[in-house]
Amino acid sequence: MTLVEVPFWFIAFFGVAFGLLFGSFLNVVIHRVPRHQNIAFPASTCPGCNTPIAGYDNIPVLSWLILRGKARCCKTTISGRYPLVELVGGLMAWAVIQQVVFELPASTPWEYALLNFALYLAVSLTLVAIAFIDVEFMIIPDSLSFGGAVLGILSFAARDMTLIESLGGAIAGFLIVWLPFDFLYRLLRGHAGMGRGDAKLLMLAGAWFGWQGAVFALMVGSVQGTLLALGLLITGTKLEIPDAVKAELAELRAEIEAAEGDEKAELEAELAKDPLAADVGDGFGAGRLAFGPFLVLGILEYMLFGQWAADQYLNVLWL
Ligand SMILES: [Zn+2]
Repeated sequence: MTLVEVPFWFIAFFGVAFGLLFGSFLNVVIHRVPRHQNIAFPASTCPGCNTPIAGYDNIPVLSWLILRGKARCCKTTISGRYPLVELVGGLMAWAVIQQVVFELPASTPWEYALLNFALYLAVSLTLVAIAFIDVEFMIIPDSLSFGGAVLGILSFAARDMTLIESLGGAIAGFLIVWLPFDFLYRLLRGHAGMGRGDAKLLMLAGAWFGWQGAVFALMVGSVQGTLLALGLLITGTKLEIPDAVKAELAELRAEIEAAEGDEKAELEAELAKDPLAADVGDGFGAGRLAFGPFLVLGILEYMLFGQWAADQYLNVLWL
């Protein structure tokens, strides 16, 4: 059976349902990975009182609406981020079906189409998790960026890429961030301009979409990030360091207070290395903008609109 013989409603219904369910799992990833917790065990519990959540209260989006954003057990408020992430899962599944699966030739065997759907949905949701975690913690977990890059390289053959394109793309993606913003910056200014997490994120982009995808994501991400920063500047909005990052720094400073001798020196060195700990005053620069979400947006745009989007950006730049 080929792709064109599978009924459209079947693909749309099961694809989006699958995306919503994985969006639900995505919430678990976003919550647990930066906290170094196991993502498989235990099953979901209430964030307020740790009561296990029943299956019927864990239906993507619907449960949150029915319970009006409150836990059944203790009525604690459940963040709107949960249904939002589930919705994003469903939308990403729909986008992958439209822009990736239906772009395959009509004669594509259904197994191959299904494999492509699973692969591209997996990388899309990994990217969404990276964006949410980077906003909250200003960190990109290696398990997601590096893990995503490895999946991209392993799946090159299923995605009509050559191994050289995928591997070369991964190396190029890493280097276009690491070389100018980490290595050279450190040489000139004594500290890195951009995190190594961003370099590994573009390694993922290159592994999946070749060097073109990585370059596109860096350019488009920079443009969109700059536009938002300008918008914040014009409207006088000041960005605070996220609460989770503040809490981590406070914890480290308390540890330094309590420590003595070599241990104290070691912890102080660790604090000095953390660019987020640097005192940057009260000006506009005091706010920190995580760059990861903009790179994620750039990578997803390349995946969904690829050549078309690249042409549009070039048109704008040449004007
Ligand atoms: Zn509860």
